[in-house]
Amino acid sequence: MIEKLTFGLFSKVDTRNFMRLMIYIKPYKLRIFGALLAIFGVALTESYLAAFIAPLVNHGFEAPQALPELSAAGGLIATLQNWKTQFTYMIWGTADKVWIVPLFLMFLIIIRGICRFTSDYLMTWISIMAVSRIRRDMFAKMLHLPAQFHQNTPSGTILMKMSMADQAISNASNAFIVLTRDTMIIIGLVCVLIYLNWQLSLIVALIFPVLSMLSRYYRNRLKNVIAESQTSSGKLNNVVNETHQGYRVVKLFGGQSLAEQYFSEVNNIIVRLGKKITQATAARGPFSELIASSALAVVIFVALWQSQAGYTTIGEFMAFIVAMLQMLSPIKNLANISIPMQTMFSAADHVCDFLDEQPEKDNGTQTLSAVSGNLKFDNIDVCYQEDGKKALNGFTLDIRAGKHIALVGRSGSGKTTAVNLLPRFVEPSAGTVYIDGVDIADVRLDNLRRQFALVSQDIFLFDDTLYNNVAYSRPEASEAEVTAAIQAANLQDIVSNHPQGIHQLIGANGSRLSGGQRQRVSIARAILKDAPILLLDEATSALDNESERLVQQALERLMTGRTGIIVAHRLSTIEQADRIIVIDEGRIVEQGTHQELMAKNGHYAALQKMPGAMK
Ligand code: ADP
Ligand code: MG
Repeated sequence: MIEKLTFGLFSKVDTRNFMRLMIYIKPYKLRIFGALLAIFGVALTESYLAAFIAPLVNHGFEAPQALPELSAAGGLIATLQNWKTQFTYMIWGTADKVWIVPLFLMFLIIIRGICRFTSDYLMTWISIMAVSRIRRDMFAKMLHLPAQFHQNTPSGTILMKMSMADQAISNASNAFIVLTRDTMIIIGLVCVLIYLNWQLSLIVALIFPVLSMLSRYYRNRLKNVIAESQTSSGKLNNVVNETHQGYRVVKLFGGQSLAEQYFSEVNNIIVRLGKKITQATAARGPFSELIASSALAVVIFVALWQSQAGYTTIGEFMAFIVAMLQMLSPIKNLANISIPMQTMFSAADHVCDFLDEQPEKDNGTQTLSAVSGNLKFDNIDVCYQEDGKKALNGFTLDIRAGKHIALVGRSGSGKTTAVNLLPRFVEPSAGTVYIDGVDIADVRLDNLRRQFALVSQDIFLFDDTLYNNVAYSRPEASEAEVTAAIQAANLQDIVSNHPQGIHQLIGANGSRLSGGQRQRVSIARAILKDAPILLLDEATSALDNESERLVQQALERLMTGRTGIIVAHRLSTIEQADRIIVIDEGRIVEQGTHQELMAKNGHYAALQKMPGAMK
């Protein structure tokens, strides 16, 4: 019955995701079994401690008795009976009982303590291990998610989902302990109650359905509130994260009041939901205690009546009351378990949602070696949103190995999209991209990406040393190679200005460096990677003239002998390209050399007259 009541509370909850997470606990079956044994020990000692009150009160205060007659009959029952008589005599029958009884009690309590410790320790150990394995899998998942996921999912949401692994498992471990230990304790105590006085036990049995009905009521109220509160926490993380990362934008555009307003809106929602959850949680304890104590009042009334009629002894009555009081806390625990279990289920949903994200498609089997750098875009369409505008529309372009192609066009014309197609950060909705005549979808992703070095306007640097940031593109490179790349990228100025030279720390995302210096670090990375094809996406657009000169020089060193696609709007960069491709609204509208296109006096010439339009 208890099982039905406790598990029945969750019959309508979708437990599938949670059950999936149980795979992570499977390797620890033996330990779970050990914990169960220990939990059984707790339940046994707890019940026996209550039952022990009856002989303690009834015999403990009498004179020692002689060993009663042992049964002469054989068989199991008689043997057990003899053992019980011997045991009763040992505890109560000798003159030394004054110290034997408390010693025996101490012994029971120590056993219970050991069992409690063992079960808690084992379960916590298992949950720590399981959480670490889930976290590892989630991170591994994140490493292979498509670029689209990273663009569309704020980091606060990802962090929230990662933390849900802990929520799911630690709540599960607590729930397991409560469900098994407290259920067993209740079963044990119910046996004791029935053994002591079955009439009174009937009354106690009435408490259960009432508590169960209460829990049902609370569960329905709380289910949505908890899920809503978790989502709001994710939003709050995002606001903090964006304000932190984009502090310059926030400060410069006076976005503080807007951010503050949004933050306090979300914050208020969390407070409101938190209050709701707390109200329900806090009200539950006193409420169930009220019910339990009214039952207790009835029990006392019936027991007093029984005692006057000579049906029960004082020892039995006291043991009964003690057993009942001992039941209150496990009952309360079981009644309270639905909230952590709700959290656990919805946390498991978050974890599984994340684990179910589709990874980037990597069905290619071919491995390219010694790529010469011929590229071909064949009638490519790119649609970011279903039935949305095409970012590229029938884009066809052939690039010979070793040539430098410049892509120009207005902002939003599709230049970055074309560049992102090559390392498959974007998948075409139609058409094929070839590298040395091989469809890039047939090439293994890691192998394909090895063929490109990308230098773009938004640089990402790790909070590490200059050396490690450069070596990131080829960790196996020798120190001499890394130093050479740093030299070639014109980074001598920051190296010689710092006592730690190439091993100086550059701050979070390179915050201790200037824009031009950060760009040169990313160029050094690309130089070290030594990939056959170079992608430059507005690599110099955020720089001042002085920085640009240094960066330009570094880029020229990087570009010699490689195929290059250069997205730029600075005349100096474009002029030197072998061919200039002008894109508008996802289509190629003009191509040729700088002189040819200027002579044509079409799109390109118009763009050159108004360079701001290209940014
Ligand atoms: P450019 O680099 O030439 O400025 P992009 O290639 O970045 O242009 O963008 C081309 C078009 O595709 C734009 O209209 C832009 O809004 C859209 N776009 C770019 N990236 C995404 C994305 N991740 N999701 C949805 N639309 C996008
Ligand atoms: Mg762009």
